[in-house]
Amino acid sequence: MRCPFCNHPDNRVLESRSTEAGQSIRRRRECLSCQRRFTTYERIEFVPITVLKQDGQRELFDRSKILRGTVRACQKTGITPAQLETLVDEIESELQQRAVREVSSYEIGELVLQQLKLLSEVAYVRFASVYRQFQSVHDFVETLNDLSPQSGSNQEEFKQEPGTRIGSIRLVDESLV
Ligand SMILES: [Zn+2]
Repeated sequence: MRCPFCNHPDNRVLESRSTEAGQSIRRRRECLSCQRRFTTYERIEFVPITVLKQDGQRELFDRSKILRGTVRACQKTGITPAQLETLVDEIESELQQRAVREVSSYEIGELVLQQLKLLSEVAYVRFASVYRQFQSVHDFVETLNDLSPQSGSNQEEFKQEPGTRIGSIRLVDESLV
């Protein structure tokens, strides 16, 4: 950090203070050459994450897609919306800490599975069955979104109520083996 007055490269920090509820750090500095003082702010860099989809296309990471993709798997499992938000937070912060800014949709699905496993076996199996068929949570959500109310047999499977769910899980389990 060069001195804004004399361009000297070295300075010493007189004081550091956390500001904006910990979102940034304010530092009071003194130039080692001209002794003038100046202030700098350090902020956490938020770099967008790109998702590499199964079809080779890229899109920006979208937490709402993951949320939508998990909501169905978590229906009637006792998992609360707040827990789902936390799940997505965990995944997002894990991705934010990585040096590489690109992640495959497949890997996102695996991260979701890791988290769901801790919350509910049922949700885990449901999500795994659907997600592994579609290879990615993004593809899965897109497929769900593309289904029109009149469309074919796939939709029946997604709309099944608890009574018939076991059958569809078994069906898909076989396809996983
Ligand atoms: Zn200076």
